[in-house]
Amino acid sequence: MPLMTGDEYLCSIQRKKMQIYLFGEKISNPVGNPILAPSLNSVKMTYDLAWEDEYRPLLTARSHLTGRLINRFTHIHQSREDLIAKVKMQRLLGQKTASCFQRCVGMDAVNAVFSVTYEIDRKYKTAYHSRFLRFLQECQEQDLVIDGAMTDPKGDRHLPANRQTNPEAYLRVVERRADGIIVCGAKCHQTGACNSHEILVMPTVSLGAGCEDYAVSFSVPTDAPGVLMIIGRQSCDTRKKEDVPMDTGNPEFGGVEALVIFDHVFIPNDHIYMNGEVEFSSALVERFAGYHRQSYGGCKTGVGDVLIGAAALAADQNGTEKASHIKDKLIEMTHLNETMYSCGIACSCEGCQTAAGNYSVDLLLANVCKQNVTRFPFEMARLAQDIAGGLMVTAPSQKDLENPDTAEYIQKYLAGADCASSQDRLKLLRLIENLTLGTAAVGYLTESLHGAGSPQAQRVVIGKQSGLERKKELAKQIARLNTDS
Ligand code: SF4
Ligand code: FE
Repeated sequence: MPLMTGDEYLCSIQRKKMQIYLFGEKISNPVGNPILAPSLNSVKMTYDLAWEDEYRPLLTARSHLTGRLINRFTHIHQSREDLIAKVKMQRLLGQKTASCFQRCVGMDAVNAVFSVTYEIDRKYKTAYHSRFLRFLQECQEQDLVIDGAMTDPKGDRHLPANRQTNPEAYLRVVERRADGIIVCGAKCHQTGACNSHEILVMPTVSLGAGCEDYAVSFSVPTDAPGVLMIIGRQSCDTRKKEDVPMDTGNPEFGGVEALVIFDHVFIPNDHIYMNGEVEFSSALVERFAGYHRQSYGGCKTGVGDVLIGAAALAADQNGTEKASHIKDKLIEMTHLNETMYSCGIACSCEGCQTAAGNYSVDLLLANVCKQNVTRFPFEMARLAQDIAGGLMVTAPSQKDLENPDTAEYIQKYLAGADCASSQDRLKLLRLIENLTLGTAAVGYLTESLHGAGSPQAQRVVIGKQSGLERKKELAKQIARLNTDS
């Protein structure tokens, strides 16, 4: 069976010889690094749960290529039920990790590239789809993590890719050879890149004539020569190496992003899935974005469940749980969370089959889903902080709780209602801090805003898909208008 265990996953990453820069130092591997370990644990959960009977139906699927049981994160969606299961799986993982578990970008990328390569081949008689299927089968059989890489630095956003001062503001082909291509450029904000085995690169925007060198899609191992990663800082990240697990709020799990550099990276022909076909770039961008905007209706609601639970526990510890305004705030948080989830499920239920045979989400509803996600977690975070109280940001450190000079005072003055120990109270407040201000806030808040495209990107698709003309006709008929205007 192609499924890896969580420990096998860690070993497989440990075998990689990546070029990773973190806090000014070069490391070759994230395994064992205190800053990166929580992010590895989150990805590991996507493997561990696949081995639990209770979760296996959600975490696995039958490969349409081999008929074998594979991890759902490497699966090509064969039905609306698959799309729904994907969102449910993501909610579950959000609940289990309270962070970004990073593996979805690859799942969303393979589903987008699957259908677009089929369509390019149909038009140009190229061989991209069969090449891509070979890569996909390898990922399924070896249960790999794929970093779906789309976001270019973009330089001056006013100018197209081929008119930038820095010609590599968008990743491009710098040399074409008989056996492959050489690429230069960068991909920003790459979720889980250092925890991945492979990178699947796609163009970042719709491209026109003259931008052929930028219309490129390929896969490359994360430790290929010329690939290097510069890890992004997160708020409060150094707490992870201070040996104060309590102060981190979520000692076990986290997310990670990196700036991934491609410095003259050679891509052999059989790993190229688009090479100059500019007119297919918008379909690829739109489909990947659609899948990833659906994803947020799952993962963010799972993390939201943890935040709601933490806020409710904080109310218990404060002795405010019976106050009507507290109950109402928890109801509001639940309402917001379930609205996001509803959109994730709805865009899955309304999905349709592509020419290549896999299932795509309903683009309008997926973009409405993500548009809600750009707002609701912020309001949920505000409500959680309101319920938690100011102690969340004024609480002393774990070290003060361990120091005999101060421990007694902390226990005496910071214990909660019903003798909730001061230790438990501080742990809980740290979790809320982690989710709304600390390392997890990267994934829960700012990523909710900008991940899978910033809010305006969704509004553009919502505008395109809104069917205004049809709605005008409806109004005309009801009002019995005589004019054609
Ligand atoms: Fe998955 Fe959510 Fe992280 Fe994106 S933000 S990789 S959808 S967990
Ligand atoms: Fe994301």
